[in-house]
Amino acid sequence: MTLQYSVLASGSSGNALYVATDEQRLLIDAGLSGKKMDELLKSIGCSPKELDAILVTHEHSDHIKGVGILARKYDLPIYANAKTWQSMEKDLGTISTEQKFHFEREEVKQFGDLQVESFGVSHDAAEPMFYVFHHAGKKLVLATDMGYVSERIKGTIQNADVFIFEANHDINMLRMGRYPWSVKRRILSDVGHVSNEDAAYALADVIGEKTSRVYLAHLSKDNNMKDLARMTVSQILDERDCGHGHQFSLYDTDPEKATELTAV
Ligand SMILES: [Zn+2]
Ligand SMILES: [Zn+2]
Repeated sequence: MTLQYSVLASGSSGNALYVATDEQRLLIDAGLSGKKMDELLKSIGCSPKELDAILVTHEHSDHIKGVGILARKYDLPIYANAKTWQSMEKDLGTISTEQKFHFEREEVKQFGDLQVESFGVSHDAAEPMFYVFHHAGKKLVLATDMGYVSERIKGTIQNADVFIFEANHDINMLRMGRYPWSVKRRILSDVGHVSNEDAAYALADVIGEKTSRVYLAHLSKDNNMKDLARMTVSQILDERDCGHGHQFSLYDTDPEKATELTAV
């Protein structure tokens, strides 16, 4: 009766999350090549043949690169909202109608013994959304690719056991860095990505007594570093006495290596 998960890969070069119960094995996004996705799944002891479905968050290539390939190879259903389907369909290759399913924003769906709740985010895609997973009283949140964290989102994700949360960039590294101003402006905008500081302020509001693990995710290769992200976030959380004396741990994610398969 446990909820298991592994962040298979996270960052601008590709994202994927594995979430499983006794009955269900879901992949959320598959933003790397089919070959790399196979390797990552095998590295945590999961045979890709055992997957039950792929859930898509939005159509950016770092989230869908391997979706079509995996769906064809293992005959998997794909779930996404209507606008995301429209925007990503041309990039997936041929997908049969029987494999196409709708999962709209602010919807709750049951996958066997695993309940999945979607929530919309502000990001420069057609209709981006992320997910909360519920099983046996446990709650796991995946929230990356957000321009900002609204009060509505905070309400949906609060007091999860596990947060996989975006800490995309260090604001100074981004400002000083080599990106053209238009790209910097996009990342910093309300439809871009969450900085280390903003991640910390949002986490301070949503971490609760149940929270045991927080994974910093979708780190920018050029404008962030794991140590800097962890230091910035933990400093702000400490200052705010987040957790009220209660213990939770901060973890890294990696663009190429899966986090240890963990049960909560
Ligand atoms: Zn992304
Ligand atoms: Zn994106």
